[in-house]
Amino acid sequence: MDFSKDEIIEILQDDGQNDWLFSLADKTRKEFVGDEVHLRGLIEFSNICKCNCKYCGLRSENKFVQRYRIEPEDIISYAQNAVDMGYKTIVLQSGEDKFFSREILCDVIKEIKKLDTALTLSIGERSFDDYKAFKDCGADRYLIRIETTDRYLYKKLHPNMDFDNRLRCLRDLRALGYEVGTGCLVGLPEQTIESLADDILFFKEINADMIGIGPFLPHPQTPLKAAVHGSFTLALKVMALTRILLKNINIPATTAMETLNSNGRLIALQCGANVVMPNVNSSEYRKKYEIYPNKSSITGSKEVNDFETKLKSIGRTISKDYGFRNNS
Ligand code: SAH
Ligand code: SF4
Repeated sequence: MDFSKDEIIEILQDDGQNDWLFSLADKTRKEFVGDEVHLRGLIEFSNICKCNCKYCGLRSENKFVQRYRIEPEDIISYAQNAVDMGYKTIVLQSGEDKFFSREILCDVIKEIKKLDTALTLSIGERSFDDYKAFKDCGADRYLIRIETTDRYLYKKLHPNMDFDNRLRCLRDLRALGYEVGTGCLVGLPEQTIESLADDILFFKEINADMIGIGPFLPHPQTPLKAAVHGSFTLALKVMALTRILLKNINIPATTAMETLNSNGRLIALQCGANVVMPNVNSSEYRKKYEIYPNKSSITGSKEVNDFETKLKSIGRTISKDYGFRNNS
């Protein structure tokens, strides 16, 4: 099924349509990617960031964050532990931390790729040559959200960053053969429903392989501390429409959704999502990786087991394969 921009806007505005929208998204998910849920083991390896995104708790101007950087050999051992626990994808995420040069990251990537795992990077804007080197060392996927396709809003929220460079990154990653993930924040101050419709159409236009959508959550040590948080239901609707339009892609039930609604992850999995990203680094770091407050991560094997029980109760199982697009 395809929707025009006007139809998307109408659906986003009218909550009377939510029931059929969520059930069509769930049906589409079942038909195109099945009942398996892919777990990705997330390692947040540095909270040091040179960027200053106005919404993010890790922005460089936030002096209250205790900054950390996990040593390369420790990143590798977290990855090893995660693979031993059965994870089939490792996600390396960080702020834009210059310490992690091309050479250092290439070494980490090569070591992790010796393990039996797919590897996703989520480390922000880099040069074509960096992206190429990481791909040559075996990185499989890359996540970089466009955040918003509204250029005016993008400029306001991202001092010293350039929307066109963000697009360049997505283009380069695609050209290099990565599975490409992007996504947006829902409920940013001044964001319109029309621009959310544009975001969804953008995902379709670039034929993204993965889309992460989360409500904006105000962080108390950012310029947006007094802003209202994004709506859980609206974020769910953007996600459901994305599933219906892009069909066989991978869509995570995001942590930000669980933070707003205590059952958010499970609800998202029934409205189009098929991926969950438990945290596999230690709690010492997790607390400091505060992009927004009260981040609600799944951690440790007990929580994963409890989560698996919940999944079974909604007819879903944990996948044992790498979980590339299309399950291929
Ligand atoms: N530095 C990398 C990866 C870490 S940030 C990058 O920016 O790509 C990962 C994601 O966290 C961002 O893409 C953004 O969409 C999300 N995020 C940041 N601050 C947030 C907030 N206050 N509420 C909700 N999501 C937020
Ligand atoms: Fe840095 Fe990413 Fe946060 Fe922006 S969103 S400040 S790039 S960690």
